[in-house]
Amino acid sequence: MKIALIPGDGIGPEIIKQALKVLDAVSNKYNVEFTYEEVLMGGIAIDETGVPLPEETLKVCKKSDAVLLGAVGGEKWDNLPGHLRPETGLLGLRKALGVFANLRPAILFPQLKEASTLKEEVLGDGLNVMVVRELTGGLYFGEKKRVGQGNSQKAWDTMIYSVEEIERITRVAFELAMNRNKKLTSVDKANVLESSRLWREVVTKVAEDYPEVTVNHMYVDNAAMQLIRNPKQFDVIVTENMFGDILSDEASMLTGSLGMLPSASLGKENPGLYEPVHGSAPDIAGQDKANPIATIMSVAMMLRHSGGMEDAARDIENAVSKVLDMGYRTGDIMQPGMKQVGTEKMGELIAGEI
Ligand code: NAD
Repeated sequence: MKIALIPGDGIGPEIIKQALKVLDAVSNKYNVEFTYEEVLMGGIAIDETGVPLPEETLKVCKKSDAVLLGAVGGEKWDNLPGHLRPETGLLGLRKALGVFANLRPAILFPQLKEASTLKEEVLGDGLNVMVVRELTGGLYFGEKKRVGQGNSQKAWDTMIYSVEEIERITRVAFELAMNRNKKLTSVDKANVLESSRLWREVVTKVAEDYPEVTVNHMYVDNAAMQLIRNPKQFDVIVTENMFGDILSDEASMLTGSLGMLPSASLGKENPGLYEPVHGSAPDIAGQDKANPIATIMSVAMMLRHSGGMEDAARDIENAVSKVLDMGYRTGDIMQPGMKQVGTEKMGELIAGEI
């Protein structure tokens, strides 16, 4: 498997180094070969080439099987004009790779229940909800306009979806549900929005191809409430761009720990993009304090979705769980009575369990 590596800025290089330890362990255990090509993006790319997303980076990413990203950004580049900001590089990469499906699992390991803001009886034996957000259409990409002056101004945004856009994201969600608990919740606002009524029709039609999956439709306001009231009712949630933006943040924060959350963005033919949800954490960069688990869990997603290596993905997830069982914690998830370790040690322990 050919992997493009983008360590990026801040804690990026430290956490990517731990991901490589885990990939080495997988390589040994399964006798598979990973080849890496390291490329620049973000602040470091601005410093070395003058732009946040060099052509060379795009070229290497496009011919890889998967792209693994640490994080980009930092104060040093905060005052540059918009087109030269590190985050512009990330948006450019997502666009160039055509990744329309954003997968954000909200996984709460039972060992870390105390980190959640929810009561223990609501969480039971932990949480595992997958939010699938449409990433390249809907309200964020429809026509927008502002007219008039002063107090007589008006502004609007358009939520627009085609059958094709809805169908392709729905299929991604159904395929995921088939490999999980075979339950899919489609979230819309079909009582008010025409685009949601089309969304619901398409999901219902695609569902005919997946008779084993139980499907329900939920209005977005109800979904926001149900995520807090009874998150365990959900397996896979699929929804449009803006609803997904809000619900994926809500779902992931139920787990309480930013350092634990992976993500994947998938397109049709281009490589998938895998990255932790958190940023470059400049406040702890270079201090061996960063939690590498979000990145390591992103590696598991990479092997599952771009490498077809389900067993290896599960090995990684089990190794993380085992190390937590053994009482090891980085500073951000430290609890009384546990053993605090740094970034390097955490990576080593997880790789060791594989
Ligand atoms: P952040 O996620 O970097 O940090 C928020 C807080 O969480 C900080 O206190 C940080 O120390 C802590 N934290 C984050 N990841 C951690 C980890 N793995 N282990 C332990 N603690 C962790 O968000 P921010 O401070 O708002 O942003 C910092 C920079 O990152 C900014 O330049 C921002 O634009 C950028 N950013 C990049 C991405 C990305 O690359 N995908 C995402 C979000 C923010």
